[in-house]
Formats: sequence, C-alpha cells, structure tokens
Amino acid sequence: MFFNKKGQDDKPEVVFLNTEVYSCSDDNCKGWMRKDFASDDLKCPLCGNDTTEEMRELPQIL
Ligand SMILES: [Zn+2]
Repeated sequence: MFFNKKGQDDKPEVVFLNTEVYSCSDDNCKGWMRKDFASDDLKCPLCGNDTTEEMRELPQIL
C-alpha cells in the first residue's frame, strides 16, 4: 500500500483493477453490480433476474 501525497495534481491517474462483479444473466440486460456493493439477494438491480459472478476491469474507487 502507498498513498499519494496531496498537492500533486499533474495527472489524474485512473487505475483499473480486476474486480469481482455480479452481472445479469439476461443477455438483453446491462445490469450489473460490484461485489462490494451487491445487494443481499444478488438480484440484478435493473430487472431482478439472477446474476452470475465474473471478473471485469473497472476503475478503482478511491
Ligand atoms: Zn438484469
């Protein structure tokens, strides 16, 4: 772990991390959620279908 010093604003650096997500099992639905923020029942936030776990490269949340 390291922390950037404050005051260094030259270039905002977006870090992409392999992130576990739950994505909707319906191919026509774009619903998904990060595992960290998933609802307890793991249903799609958009349509309520079941979701499947997968890995995606997502911007790191700071
Ligand atoms: Zn869905």
